[in-house]
This record gives sequence, structure tokens and C-alpha cells, in this order.
Amino acid sequence: MLSRFCLVALITATSALSQAQNTSPKPEPVLDVHVHAMDADFPGIAPMCPNTSKFIASDPKGKEEPFGWVKEPCTPALYPAAKGEYMKDVLAEMERLNVTAVVFGDPKSVQKWKDAAPARVIPGTAFEVGFPANQRVPLDELRKDFTTGGFKVMGEIGLQYEGLSPSDPSVDQYFALAEELDIPVAIHMGTGGSGRANITTPKFRGSMGNPLLLEDLLARHPKLRVQVMHAGYPMIEEMLTLLQANSHVYVDVAGLIWSYPIKEVNRYIERLVEGGFEDRVMFGTDQLIWPKLMAYSISVIQNADYLTTEEKRDILYNNAARFLRLDNKQAK
Ligand SMILES: [Zn+2]
Repeated sequence: MLSRFCLVALITATSALSQAQNTSPKPEPVLDVHVHAMDADFPGIAPMCPNTSKFIASDPKGKEEPFGWVKEPCTPALYPAAKGEYMKDVLAEMERLNVTAVVFGDPKSVQKWKDAAPARVIPGTAFEVGFPANQRVPLDELRKDFTTGGFKVMGEIGLQYEGLSPSDPSVDQYFALAEELDIPVAIHMGTGGSGRANITTPKFRGSMGNPLLLEDLLARHPKLRVQVMHAGYPMIEEMLTLLQANSHVYVDVAGLIWSYPIKEVNRYIERLVEGGFEDRVMFGTDQLIWPKLMAYSISVIQNADYLTTEEKRDILYNNAARFLRLDNKQAK
């Protein structure tokens, strides 16, 4: 089931592929803080072109497509994993690129990934069932996942798809648990709907992705460590305001890094870094239906002419290692 994954993902986009990844035999390690343990086939999913140039409007009078990206040709396009090969293909890419990833999903699916690649997978799970969620995982069950099940991050939390604020009192008990157990939480904020949330996920609210909605939650739980997934894109002013106000907040650039127009993506990351938060920006990809997307996303950071070599390493590895409190030897 395609649950717990971002609709921003299923796009058919365009633009030229830039130079992919590393050429050295053993690339420097990368931490990807945002991968999904999907276990499905993807019939009918088209090859994709990252960083599409624009959205197109639709007319409610006719049948509207679920994805609003303009369809443009590109070379080379990225191809979806073959039937039944998704996990194998993504793990092979992680091995080739020396990537360790936080993999989110329901505990059983994530465990499969962990079993297949114990050294490369950091397991994550959360309290929503279904997409958009229509059920909650019982608190005690979630507690067990983190105390005895080996799970390390609580995410992806997609309350925005339910039209809920992350500070909504109805889910506070889960964040209280994360604070008590000292588990970082990863919350979807900002992007969504591939330009067609009104058609595909009518409960989704752009306004519920405003990073400043995290302030009450953070005030209630002063020790909570928060990963703002998708960096609250496109709300840069609100994102910078939150980063200034709370030093336990980090962001990831997953989804947005390969979805939106490349100039806009670079401008957004540059604003975060130029705003003084170079040490809180973490690399991420999101779902990888097209497994080569991981190499492509790494290349966006590596090709960023506004980042120093040191800043690139911080975004690709060091910041996430600090956020996750990894032993430095792990993943290297
Ligand atoms: Zn997301």
C-alpha cells in the first residue's frame, strides 16, 4: 500500500539531468534522513524527469489528472524499479553511493529493509495508519517499537494531509512519548499534492504546513528534537523564523530537492544556508520509485556552486550524524 509517503513524489516531470554522483571508487558517506519502505509495484508509473519547470492549471469541468506538473521530455529520464525490485534496487544504490538512510514505514516493512541491509538502514515509524491517516497506532504499541523494537526516529508524521496542525492536542501524547524516550520526530511540513492536492487529498491544507505551527508543540515539549521534513517549502520566511527561535529544529530537503524547478530549489537551500543555518540542513530524498533519484539528488548538492566543500559535507552527512547522535564510526 502506498501509505506514509508524500504525494509530492509521484510526479512525471522534466529537465535535464545534471552530472550524477561520485566517480571515486568509495564515495564519501552520505546520510539520507528521509526514505520510505514501500513494498509495492508501480504499474503505469512513467519515467520521470526531476526538477520540473512548472505546474499547469486544470479545469474542474473535465476529468483532472492527479499530477499537475507539465509534461516535458528530458534525457535521460529516470526509470521506475521493476516489479518486485524496489527494495533491492534502492539498497543497491545505497551500497554503490555509500548511503545510510533513515527508512520510514510500518514496522514490518521497515524491518524487512533492516534485515536486508542492517548497516545501511536506520529504522523509523510513526503513529498514523493509512494515507491520509484514518487510524492511530496505540501509544503502548509505539512505545514498544522504540524501547524494544529498535526504532530510532518517529516519522514520517503527515498530519498536514489530515488538515491538522502538528500542535493539535489530539496527537500530543505521541510527541510527549518521543520527548520522554528522547527519540527525534520527523514531521511533514510544507510541500504536497504535486499541484493537485485539491483533487487527490482534499483534507490537505497548505496552511497546516506552516513551520511556525510547530512553536506551540516545541513550547510544550522543550526537549523535543524536530526534523522539519521538506524544510517547510516554500515558506522560507517562516522556516527561518522557527530556526532562529528554536535550536532543536533541523530541516531536510527531501522531495523538494528533485521536485521543483532547479533554480527555485537552489535558491531555497541557499536561503537556509545564507540565513545562518548551514549546520541544520540535512540531505534527504523521499520515496525512490525511480531508484537513480538518489544519485541525482546527491548531485544537486554536489553541484551547488553556492556551497563550500565543507558545507556540502555537512549537508550530506555531518548535520544528520549530529541530529541522530550517530557514533562517528557508524556508516563510514
Ligand atoms: Zn513528506
